[in-house]
Amino acid sequence: MHSTGKLTADSYEEFLERFSVEVPENFNFAYDFLDAEAATDPTRPAMVHVDDDGNRRDLDLAFFSSESSRMAQGLAKRGIGPGDRVLVMLYRRVEWWITVLALHKLGAVAAPGPHLLTTKDIEFRVDYAGIKAIVCEDGLAEKVDAARANCPSLTLLVGAGEGALPEGWTRFDDIIADGEENYIHTGPDGRRPGGADPLYIFFTSGTTGMPKMVTHPHTYPLGHLTTGMYWHDLKPGDLHLTLSDTGWAKSVWGKFYGQWLSGACIFTWDFRGKFTPDSLLGILAEHRITTFCAPPTVYRFLVREDLSLYDLSALRHCTTAGELLNTSVFESWKQSTGLNIYEGYGQTETCLQTATFPFMEPKPGSIGKPCPGWDLVLLDESGNPCPTGVEGEICIRLSEGRNLGLFTGYLDEPEKTATVMYDGYYHTGDKAWADEDGYFWFMGRNDDLIKSSGYRIGPFEVETALVSHPAVVEAAVTAVPDPVRGQAVKATLVLAQGYEPSDELTREIQDHVKKVTAPYKYPRVIDYVDELPKTISGKIKRAEIREKDESGN
Ligand code: ATP
Ligand code: MG
Repeated sequence: MHSTGKLTADSYEEFLERFSVEVPENFNFAYDFLDAEAATDPTRPAMVHVDDDGNRRDLDLAFFSSESSRMAQGLAKRGIGPGDRVLVMLYRRVEWWITVLALHKLGAVAAPGPHLLTTKDIEFRVDYAGIKAIVCEDGLAEKVDAARANCPSLTLLVGAGEGALPEGWTRFDDIIADGEENYIHTGPDGRRPGGADPLYIFFTSGTTGMPKMVTHPHTYPLGHLTTGMYWHDLKPGDLHLTLSDTGWAKSVWGKFYGQWLSGACIFTWDFRGKFTPDSLLGILAEHRITTFCAPPTVYRFLVREDLSLYDLSALRHCTTAGELLNTSVFESWKQSTGLNIYEGYGQTETCLQTATFPFMEPKPGSIGKPCPGWDLVLLDESGNPCPTGVEGEICIRLSEGRNLGLFTGYLDEPEKTATVMYDGYYHTGDKAWADEDGYFWFMGRNDDLIKSSGYRIGPFEVETALVSHPAVVEAAVTAVPDPVRGQAVKATLVLAQGYEPSDELTREIQDHVKKVTAPYKYPRVIDYVDELPKTISGKIKRAEIREKDESGN
């Protein structure tokens, strides 16, 4: 399989009609796409990698093809084979891609983990998933090693980098040195791994509780053709940056399959520590990045900078997903850069479900329209489809077979899977409504919606109104019990520099919300904090604010 030609579509309808993905039998991305493409076009740019000190490496497809084969054989010699689960914690090092591709070649299951996992988190994940090996960088080895005593399933610990490693660890480079570049792994039946074999265990962000473990098969990468080729609008010659830690599914949405399938080059910025808006803008300018994807919170910080100080002339297409993009952020980004931000919606359990594609007029605040191949339906509480304008749960119809890119289930938990896959649908747990043009408008997670005096209020619309006030940098809107209304709207706010909490400011912000949205949505309670509770991937944990309010702390 080689890079597929891009469809030209002038409209969403035309795109839907013409889009199709061919799924080769027993598909394995590492053999059937990467190795095949590298054999015909070895020097095709695959990755521009910039480390924390600004050192740049330009890597081609042949590099990833041969290094991953060597790694696969080196791992096979150390007892790693089909179905074995391997935790990978490598920040955004090049070794991350080599390792994951090697695991694809072996038929082993990659479980990416963010570097911020604590020893306890690691123990939980390793024990739950029966992880056999961990590949991490030297800087993380100590905390991984501390988990070892409580993790009997571990047989191999691999450290990347030049730093010291605890006793009993194997060096990444020694494994690579043990393999050959044309290695192909076959089972006793002569079959290479692929198709419906397990590929990944992803951890969800843990916004609503403990992260869930989501499994995807080898066909999953093809589900991201839509993500890279159409939503990110990629083609050969593009340099794409998605800002995400390699520990989340979002990183493979934006830093891997769809990008390579489209012929584009992945830009990887392996910064350490906290990201700063000015350094990111500097990177975009210096490396002439052409397309960019980041969560809304990143754009929120970027638009507060003086963008005229940076040469962003190479940048032509911007996207966002993960949380709702506030309209004011869309507008100020457009004003400063001349570019729209195209929003998408999806979950770890799926690929991109809805998006605003380049050939669609964005409606700021909308998550766009359903992606081809996904039969999305909004269902009311009795399981009936909702008419235009009426909110319902976003569900994916399963009756016509599995959608390409839909998860197989929560790892080893058929009962939990059955709570979201039933009656012929996968239930996302998210609520939205569709307008007369078919655009979806995200309202919130089922649990986050507020019911006040008979009104249903989505937290996002109130948050959007709040952050359009100059004093407000970030807002989280939740329900608090109210004797009269059942629930009242509460806003937890982080103020911009130069603003101090006061009754006067509270009134001013409340009046502002009443003006920019329907007055019944204004927050009756406002709380000021220095920081909102967030997941390690940066999502606001509204459930945590609610729990705190309920327990009275
Ligand atoms: P957990 O399932 O562990 O609570 P999570 O749902 O946040 O965490 P992810 O799979 O990373 O984990 O995120 C998917 C969720 O993010 C969606 O279900 C939705 O609630 C939210 N989301 C994704 N894209 C958007 C978007 N464009 N606008 C609003 N919300 C979005
Ligand atoms: Mg979720």
